[in-house]
Amino acid sequence: MRLGVFGGTFDPVHTGHVAVAEGVRRQMGLDAVRLLPCNRPPHKARPDLTPGPDRLAMIALATQQTPALIPSSYELTRPAPSYTIDTLRALETSDRSLRLFFIMGMDSFGEIHLWKEHQALLSGFHLVVVNRPGCAPPDASRLPAGARVVEGAADRDTGGGRVHMLTVEPQQASSTEIRRRAREGADLAGMVPPPVASYIHRCALYQ
Ligand code: ATP
Repeated sequence: MRLGVFGGTFDPVHTGHVAVAEGVRRQMGLDAVRLLPCNRPPHKARPDLTPGPDRLAMIALATQQTPALIPSSYELTRPAPSYTIDTLRALETSDRSLRLFFIMGMDSFGEIHLWKEHQALLSGFHLVVVNRPGCAPPDASRLPAGARVVEGAADRDTGGGRVHMLTVEPQQASSTEIRRRAREGADLAGMVPPPVASYIHRCALYQ
């Protein structure tokens, strides 16, 4: 089984996340994509982080029309912070038939050299990096040693060790912008799926 793993803060999940997950699933021929909210982001200072159960509930609402996108509480039930390499190793150990594809935006990939055991991540797994408006791909000379970059789904059936560069319809949405708009009482239409907008409103999140 080819399984996409899409990690993030998802505070809140937005239309960009859903479009990225679906676009990657289709282009890479994945059977499913799991969306894993982290317990506490290792690289972002967020004292105002929304509780995990609320972030997970919003992911469930955002993916109710897309059955191949599956919310996962995995990292929320583990001690914080969550490190991607630990999560992928645990998933792999739990089911040896899984081939894992870790999905990230270009902004996250630009910081991959800061991630725990990033060399092991790059050599042992498939990473799928998608375009994000305002984020240029890193210069080849600045890529971490060991990053073997390929276009799209090329080499997807190897054991790992590839960085797949994928182009999806550009997605402007960002969680920071959504939190700012929610705080100001502005309309969130188009930035989050309607049931997520209702949830934010009902629970008075980001006030
Ligand atoms: P924040 O604004 O709080 O930093 P965010 O919008 O970047 O949040 P995250 O939950 O941090 O959302 O993102 C999870 C993953 O999704 C990251 O790998 C990020 O690069 C990617 N991502 C988020 N938004 C987009 C987007 N609009 N286009 C492409 N990738 C995205």
